[in-house]
Amino acid sequence: MRGATRMSSPTLDRVLDAVLRVDARFDIRFISEQGQRWLNRAPGSELPKNFMDIVHPDDLPALRQILVGTPDSFACDLRILKGTTECWVHLRSYCLTEARELVLCIVDISQWKTEDSALRHAAEHDELTGLPNRAALKRAMEQRIQSNRKVFSVALLDLDGFKNVNDRYGHAMGDAVLVETAKRLSKLLAPGDLIARLGGDEFVLLLEGKQAPAAQQALKNVLRAMARPFNTAPHNAYLGVSIGVAEFPLHGEDYSMLLKNADTAMYQSKNSGKNRITLFARAQAHADLATQAAIHKGIQEGEFFMEYQPQYDMQRRLVGAESLMRWTNTALGRMVPEQFIPIVEVAGLMPFLGKWALRYCCHQLKNFLALDPDFVLSVNVSPTQFNSANFDDQVLEVIAETGINPSRLVLEITESTLMNSQKKNQLALIRLYEQGVRFSIDDFGTGFSSLSYLTRLPVSSIKIDRAFVCAMGEQPAPNNSDRKLIGAMIKLAHSIDLWVVAEGVETQTQYDFLKAAGCNLVQGYLLGRPMSAEALALRFSAQTEAAL
Ligand code: C2E
Ligand code: CA
Ligand code: CA
Repeated sequence: MRGATRMSSPTLDRVLDAVLRVDARFDIRFISEQGQRWLNRAPGSELPKNFMDIVHPDDLPALRQILVGTPDSFACDLRILKGTTECWVHLRSYCLTEARELVLCIVDISQWKTEDSALRHAAEHDELTGLPNRAALKRAMEQRIQSNRKVFSVALLDLDGFKNVNDRYGHAMGDAVLVETAKRLSKLLAPGDLIARLGGDEFVLLLEGKQAPAAQQALKNVLRAMARPFNTAPHNAYLGVSIGVAEFPLHGEDYSMLLKNADTAMYQSKNSGKNRITLFARAQAHADLATQAAIHKGIQEGEFFMEYQPQYDMQRRLVGAESLMRWTNTALGRMVPEQFIPIVEVAGLMPFLGKWALRYCCHQLKNFLALDPDFVLSVNVSPTQFNSANFDDQVLEVIAETGINPSRLVLEITESTLMNSQKKNQLALIRLYEQGVRFSIDDFGTGFSSLSYLTRLPVSSIKIDRAFVCAMGEQPAPNNSDRKLIGAMIKLAHSIDLWVVAEGVETQTQYDFLKAAGCNLVQGYLLGRPMSAEALALRFSAQTEAAL
């Protein structure tokens, strides 16, 4: 026991928190007095039997790995269990060959470990939300690029209307919104994904193993999650999010290129009406004269066309439709608006295409009105189209040309378009209203926190955004907050004499709820997908025949 005496000497006890002697099976033969105190054992009380019993289970595999080659000495960091607590230690072992025993020297490094990790945490995390920060994102992205070069997508997210929350309700509210955003986004992460806050209201999502189109699909959940109101008493705030996506290595081979391109795409989302996702390749197209030419040619050669999604009242009577644009190009294939509208926007051709669509729709409306004079057709109007200098003249011109009853035409503009519009465009809206044209607020609830414009401007209906209807889920009322919200929107709209249209109705449960809540019209896959004018006319005829 000479060794033991030496090992428990006061000198060693000052540097070492515990010294143990164990046999080849790691049964404990001896623990220094200092060690017994450190392990929270009263002197004379029973000692742990085997060293492995006090090693944290998560660290056992690594330790066993070290011991595989029965080394003479080794060192490692691991956690020791001290009663109910655990503690990081630096372990150094020496072999007493003749006794076939090991001496284990332990230094408690928990203090150092926590300081180290606290420092590392602070350097790489955002103080407000606790999310990884720009530095951490850069490190994670570079690690990914160097280690496996597998595909991933980078999505840059910038909140819409955040400045409003800050300006109106103060920074504390703004902070609360950011924290809540971080929480909502964190819930949507798939394994291997990463979410970081760059600063301000900018977040980055790294989507592991996804090419940009797959990322776009997944990011629709982000739009949905962000569409839910932010509970910033005394008022709820409604925000959207503009998203830009770049794919590694297709759109950039390093951190800064990927972020720059995602940023370009994000701005594209902002410019084409906010609260949407744009893929970088699409946004980049403004430099692509060939695409512009393809759009021009496409319009001339009839590659663009409209589909019509039926709208029903709550007695399931077909009363109208929304026109939705489509583009089938020989080289690019069939595209939905989310894919081509950003290209059209950056090419500066949206006012042109919008004008074309309006003319096309009014001609079609004339045909529908021949089947039913009460038919109402809704046409989407883009922000640039609405804000163009002579928008009202354009509309009135087409109405005159086709001779349609203006009160059968509904122009859909989004909340954010209206909020970001100039006084003179609002006057154009009033002029059109006076001529009988109706306006509907599209994507209602996603754009802005103030509703006063609804009473100031002559709007006739709101369209509850698909995200709300979708979020409503299948849970029964009254505890479902999405249902409460939809109910409140309907009540609010009715209190100022607006009609309510719900879009994206996919299930009978959603329909039943909307009906009970007093919604006026519904549109969605449950009742009919977007279809050709001929198909819609057939539905009409069938309805008319059934009524006879
Ligand atoms: P929006 O105005 O909100 O149009 C409704 C979108 O929801 C359409 O997508 C429609 O196909 C889809 N939808 C309808 N019912 C359901 C449903 O039950 N479930 C689901 N998941 N989706 C449903 P689409 O046709 O891809 O259009 C997307 C957006 O493109 C439109 O959103 C609108 O903002 C824009 N857009 C479409 N046509 C035009 C147009 O002629 N001019 C302008 N400026 N924008 C257009
Ligand atoms: Ca619409
Ligand atoms: Ca909509």
